[in-house]
Amino acid sequence: MKNEMTLAFDSLSENEGFARVAVAAFATQLNPTLEEVADIRTAVSEAVTNAIIHGYPEGVHTVVIKAVLSGETLELWVTDEGVGMEDVARAMEPLYTSRPEMERSGMGFMFMEAFMDQVEVQSAPGMGTTVYMKKTIGKGAAGLEG
Ligand code: ATP
Ligand code: MG
Repeated sequence: MKNEMTLAFDSLSENEGFARVAVAAFATQLNPTLEEVADIRTAVSEAVTNAIIHGYPEGVHTVVIKAVLSGETLELWVTDEGVGMEDVARAMEPLYTSRPEMERSGMGFMFMEAFMDQVEVQSAPGMGTTVYMKKTIGKGAAGLEG
């Protein structure tokens, strides 16, 4: 069975916690383990934080999360229509950050790749960024339900 949801919210740091809880709650339908829930929360948190602080360095704009459940798989698209990236490969290098003065450590993409099965980034300067993430959830484990 396929189940899809889309969430659009203002690029305020206050909404980062809301977004990760909302996606984690949606994903509980796959009966994930607590560890899998934590992985999803962390990955969403990193992608959404990036959209808010890097994608939209000025002003408040819209961040969109699309989530699709199909079979045992969760797919996520986190999109901003912000500044985008010139060099995605470099941005995804471990410990690369364009904002060291903001005490960023360049770990966000590392976490997304560590906790999800697949991470793909599409971005163009001035056009914004979409982070695609995919994770297959182990079946039948005693996780959070309902
Ligand atoms: P940390 O996540 O550890 O706080 P960080 O955000 O700098 O630090 P990453 O999340 O790995 O590290 O991102 C690396 C770099 O990629 C960022 O510094 C930024 O330059 C760029 N980047 C990431 N997401 C976006 C985005 N949505 N829009 C524009 N640039 C982005
Ligand atoms: Mg980051």
